[in-house]
Amino acid sequence: CSWGRVTDDDRLHCTILCESPLSALPEPNQSSSVSLQLFINNEWQDAISKRSFPTINPATGEVICQVAEADKADVDKAVKAAREAFRFGSPWRRMDASDRGLLLSRLADAIERDTAYLAVTLLSLVSWYLLNMECSEYCAGWADKWEGKTIPIDGDFFCYTRHEPIGVCGQIIPWNFPLLMQAWKLGPALATGNTVVMKVAEQTPLTALYVASLIKEVGFPPGVVNILPGMGPSAGSAIASHMDVDKVAFTGSTEVGHLIQQASGSSNLKKVTLELGGKSPNIIMSDANMAEAVEQSHFALFFNQGQCCCAGSRTYVQDTIYDEFMERSVERAKSRVVGDPFNMKTEQGPQVDEEQFKKILGYISSGKREGAKLMCGGGVAADRGYFIQPTIFGDVQDGMTIAREEIFGPVMQILKFKTLEEVVERANDTKYGLAAAVFTKDIDKAHYISSGIRAGTVWINCYNVFGAQAPFGGYKYSGNGRELGEYGLDNYTEVKTVTIKVPQKNS
Ligand code: NAP
Ligand code: MG
Repeated sequence: CSWGRVTDDDRLHCTILCESPLSALPEPNQSSSVSLQLFINNEWQDAISKRSFPTINPATGEVICQVAEADKADVDKAVKAAREAFRFGSPWRRMDASDRGLLLSRLADAIERDTAYLAVTLLSLVSWYLLNMECSEYCAGWADKWEGKTIPIDGDFFCYTRHEPIGVCGQIIPWNFPLLMQAWKLGPALATGNTVVMKVAEQTPLTALYVASLIKEVGFPPGVVNILPGMGPSAGSAIASHMDVDKVAFTGSTEVGHLIQQASGSSNLKKVTLELGGKSPNIIMSDANMAEAVEQSHFALFFNQGQCCCAGSRTYVQDTIYDEFMERSVERAKSRVVGDPFNMKTEQGPQVDEEQFKKILGYISSGKREGAKLMCGGGVAADRGYFIQPTIFGDVQDGMTIAREEIFGPVMQILKFKTLEEVVERANDTKYGLAAAVFTKDIDKAHYISSGIRAGTVWINCYNVFGAQAPFGGYKYSGNGRELGEYGLDNYTEVKTVTIKVPQKNS
């Protein structure tokens, strides 16, 4: 599977992916070649152990290709390269900030140029690439605008701050938005002058490796970005506990988030930012525009097969409109088109892997067992691959497992409430605090809910609206720190105070 040029092998993989022969796989256009090895110091390398692991096509359950598997020894090698690239006086440290911005901008252009190719690799035609490029461009613009301050301290001194890169940043990303998560991590880290060792999720290494080739192509110096496919307990934990990694940024489950924080505490107290799970409340008031509320709530939960950390997975509906909302939501879910990710009419593809597929079916069983009412779906949607029917549970109670735990699948929970005060209290009765939404025409109610909910993002009359300029992150078990926007860049910088004596008399 060599991606430097389109080969017959590539066409074969594409055929497997699409389940129908594709006459023309888009040309990647790039000059440098891509492989399925580790990307360290701008070179493609086998894992030191020579181990590899399979990448599976979730639409068919078949193996696409084998990818090199990094472990601790490779992490050590990558951290060394990243440390060398970060050395004071290195090309990266000496590079003008505006040139760093330019490199990021070129990377965004290269991703845009190869969008069709990346879409095939990602098994998706959804244009989330725009957000990816927007993030790189946004961060590129910040590179030479990340200013310190002059501080009026007492005495004959000139005091100012420098915003400096933290150093070698470990980044561990999940599989639910492989390309987007990579951009959210790389953009702010590189704009502010850090170097990176990134471990990508075992389910989705391919797009990240392709982007690695673009990183080399556009001219990032060796060692600035290192990309390692591998497993969490080996490569991931080696990054989290590494004595020479200055910061780790993680997105994934709350369970692993705990491990990352602990690893920092028992190693070198590296800085940690965490973007973890959620069980986000989506509140529909009786005065809401019904058609909009139904469609947006559907999108809030089912988007990306339900595999979103901020999925609106507790839909609270006011009692007076509950029956109508339920009926229309069920109708919408039943009309959802599930199937081939390359069919333009498809709204829902497969879950990412067999483990998630089984986990979601387990949650559906628990919903039935604990007395929730199955309104539609509840089963497997195809005889191969990991497809699940769009599923809705009604009569859901706050204490049920499906109302408390992150399902990460196409399973919607609808709960009934009476009053505003009640729903805010119930919405906050969760260990998570990533996102929330409210649908209402009443601005007072919208303000009451947006100030009462303990979550990092609140959407009003909309859902899943992201902008590279706006911070995203969680309260409580949903994480530490923010990604995107100025706040996101802040999490990749140290502040240095410099104080200079300024004699007031000529002596
Ligand atoms: P996960 O295990 O938390 O995976 C996220 C990343 O962390 C992956 O790259 C993973 O490697 C790595 N990792 C795993 N164990 C690690 C360790 N001990 N030390 C360092 N890194 C480690 O999530 P998952 O297993 O893929 O999914 C499980 C659940 O997490 C989902 O059902 C969902 O509820 C939640 N989740 C949340 C998000 C989010 O955006 N907040 C994203 C994905 C999943 P591997 O690839 O080897 O696992
Ligand atoms: Mg995992």
